[in-house]
Amino acid sequence: MSFDSENEGEDGGAVKFYINSEGHCYCPVCGDLARVKDWWPYSPEGYPLYDICGCCNFQFGYDDGGEAPYEKSWENYRESWLAGKVSGAMKMTLSQKQEQLKHIGL
Ligand SMILES: [Zn+2]
Repeated sequence: MSFDSENEGEDGGAVKFYINSEGHCYCPVCGDLARVKDWWPYSPEGYPLYDICGCCNFQFGYDDGGEAPYEKSWENYRESWLAGKVSGAMKMTLSQKQEQLKHIGL
C-alpha cells in the first residue's frame, strides 16, 4: 500500500490517502479532516492503527476486517453512513456529508 497524497501527485498503490497542505490526512471513509497532524489510519507498513474516526465512527483495522485494500469495506461503510445508518456517527445532513466527501475525491 502507499501513502501517496494528492498534493505530492505521485502514482499511488491500491490505497490512496488524501492529505492537505498542512499534513493532515482526510478520513478515507467520510472525508473528515484529521485534527491531529500526521495522523494516519494505517501504518506505513499497511497495518491498521485501530483508531476511530471522530466523524463517521469507522474503526480502522476493525470495520475493514484488517485486510488490504480496504476499499470495499470503506465503500460499504460509507453507504451506510450516507444513509444515516451508522450509530455513533456525527450528526450531519446528507448534503454536508456529500460536501465533505469532495475532500477525498468523491
Ligand atoms: Zn470518517
